[in-house]
Amino acid sequence: MRPLSYVRAGDAGTAIALVRARPDSAFLAGGTTEVDLVRQDVLRPGLLVDINDLPLDLVEDLPGGGLRIGALARMSDVARAPGVIERFPLMSQALVLGASAQLRNMASMGGNLCQRVRCSYFRDPASPCNKREPGSGCAALDGFHRGHAILGVSDHCIATHPSDVAVPLTALDAVVHTSGPAGERAIGIDDFFPLPGDTPQREHPLEHGELITAIEVPGAPVARRSVYLKFRDRQSYEFALASVAAAVRIEDGTVTEVRLALGGVATKPWRARRAEAALLGRPATAASFAEAARQELAAATPRPMNAFKVGLAQRAVVRALSTLTDGEA
Ligand SMILES: Cc1cc2nc3c(=O)[nH]c(=O)nc-3n(C[C@H](O)[C@H](O)[C@H](O)COP(=O)(O)OP(=O)(O)OC[C@H]3O[C@@H](n4cnc5c(N)ncnc54)[C@H](O)[C@@H]3O)c2cc1C
Ligand code: SF4
Repeated sequence: MRPLSYVRAGDAGTAIALVRARPDSAFLAGGTTEVDLVRQDVLRPGLLVDINDLPLDLVEDLPGGGLRIGALARMSDVARAPGVIERFPLMSQALVLGASAQLRNMASMGGNLCQRVRCSYFRDPASPCNKREPGSGCAALDGFHRGHAILGVSDHCIATHPSDVAVPLTALDAVVHTSGPAGERAIGIDDFFPLPGDTPQREHPLEHGELITAIEVPGAPVARRSVYLKFRDRQSYEFALASVAAAVRIEDGTVTEVRLALGGVATKPWRARRAEAALLGRPATAASFAEAARQELAAATPRPMNAFKVGLAQRAVVRALSTLTDGEA
């Protein structure tokens, strides 16, 4: 049996100092990822610093139509915040389609961004896994990889990023605010999730002891007409095989503004910039949507078991855009 200490921090400075002081320590928010992995012997912290007493749970409207979401706001509270439902329906939908009602009541937004991959080899300490044990190999490459990534992969890791809400946050250019030993930082969401490359163990740019304090979403009028679609093996309590966050503005039948991001198919929440560029100025038709999706997925490098995701993701993009433009195109 290994000893595991637990302490409840009353303020951010204390929480950061406590984690900073021990290399084997970690923050504990809702615990829905952290405790699972400790139980499975995948993570072996010596100290958990509970941050649930910190005043970081508000969802606030910002001037200009944006949002500031405290890192400890629960997924369920964010999903039903009026400003999220009215101005960012894609976020509310992504949150409601994640996990289960009980988990959403526990799980925090900061923890959601830092959740670990669902690759079964990562969660099995007996399997080689470069993410869990750098240099040990990747059992998924020639193993069971039906749910794994087709975009942003490397020879060292092909695990998909599991978060749903990170997909609309990526489409919306959200910014992650942190506080740490070096002071405060603001990190663009795209930079928050690095590609695995040859360092798949590095899943975000946070230093040890750096605390996420808030996530800011800039005002985006285009997001009022938006959607999050999630495709999975069963209709609830399941991670995405493919998902799409889409927002679009149409004028005179032409796409004049569009935000697109994909989940379930890439090693990070995937901003579909090629598809966005292909859509701008094009007629809002199923043919344009299909061509844009084709261009985005041209970069895919599927493996034998997950090749079906190429077509699935393309159809998902077309479905999302058609849902938003039905009757206008
Ligand atoms: C059965 C199951 C199904 C799920 N299905 C889905 C799904 O469909 N879609 C989806 O998106 N998610 C899903 N999840 C994941 C769930 O959303 C995450 O576990 C949850 O959001 C993590 O939040 P938490 O507060 O519980 O984090 P914790 O477990 O407390 O922490 C997770 C990690 O984040 C770190 N951390 C937490 N807060 C901070 C902070 N403020 N600053 C820095 N580091 C921090 C912790 O140290 C830890 O490393 C599922 C989880 C389970 C168990
Ligand atoms: S895909 Fe990534 S997480 Fe899964 S076994 Fe390979 S290195 Fe580990």
